[in-house]
Amino acid sequence: MKIGFIGLGIMGRAMARNVIKGGYPLAVYDKFASCDDLAGLGATVVSSSREVAALSDVVITMLPNSPHVREAVLGPNGVLEGAKPGTIIVDMSSVAPAVSQEISALAAEKGVQMLDAPVSGGEPKAIDGTLAIMAGGDAEVFARVRPVLEKMGSSVVHVGGIGAGNVTKLANQIIVALNIAAVSEAFVLAAKAGVAPDAVFAAIRGGLAGSTVMDAKVPMILDGNFKPGGRLELHTKDLQNVLETSHRLNVALPLTAAVMEIIQSLIGEGMSGADHCAIVRYYEKLANVQVRRPA
Ligand code: NAD
Repeated sequence: MKIGFIGLGIMGRAMARNVIKGGYPLAVYDKFASCDDLAGLGATVVSSSREVAALSDVVITMLPNSPHVREAVLGPNGVLEGAKPGTIIVDMSSVAPAVSQEISALAAEKGVQMLDAPVSGGEPKAIDGTLAIMAGGDAEVFARVRPVLEKMGSSVVHVGGIGAGNVTKLANQIIVALNIAAVSEAFVLAAKAGVAPDAVFAAIRGGLAGSTVMDAKVPMILDGNFKPGGRLELHTKDLQNVLETSHRLNVALPLTAAVMEIIQSLIGEGMSGADHCAIVRYYEKLANVQVRRPA
């Protein structure tokens, strides 16, 4: 099975490496980033999404948001221009579920099938090949590409029809955003009360409040390390997709809306490229305290 990969950014590059390590022939394309390192590992570097599709049975896309996926799949020199009937697109980007459904319907007109299969776990799990992958689309198509997905993830779950993968990812992103905000509030309180935040972390991480988010993000916060990881601008994109979807369904998400506004204030201060654990900076400013290891 020949694989194509479009979008070799923070996540896609690590995922593509694992596909190569898994023994699949790989064709790659990124509109802006160099793919020289992947060529060194044996990938064929081409200069358009159309060429990727022409060389592949399965085309994986890992792009920032809906407009980028639309452009790469539907645009001039896009996947649908190069794909044959029977080609499978696996969009692993986090996009609005309605967009997955729209692109899938247009692909189907050309005999091309599509899964939406976003991921959770960030760059460390992309590198390790231990992402959580949540896939929507036809069950038989999912079964065919599952071995490829298992090269990138340790949890690969079919959650329903097309769009269900991104609905699941939106649920994931609500929990991650609120969890980072909760951790931030708690650790700012502890720091202001004069209790060393690293001691608080050691004391509570094994209890009920402990979480994957706490384990991943508190050490970064304690080090003052806001290098992404998951950028605030991508998380605000996800929360925008959450709120658009929830408003269409008349579902009220008051806590998500509040964290969205916190992130907006940080982006307004020029922090769009910071890791999402920079949410703590908002709370640090309110309380005039920093959550750091004691010097
Ligand atoms: P990124 O910005 O680092 O990478 C995206 C890549 O796509 C870039 O290299 C860019 O040059 C390329 N690109 C943009 N438009 C293109 C086009 N039209 N054709 C070809 N290439 C194009 O983003 P990322 O952090 O790798 O995230 C990718 C997706 O995964 C996003 O939807 C994000 O929300 C999601 N995600 C990210 C993380 C994370 O921690 N970074 C975790 C889980 C999910």
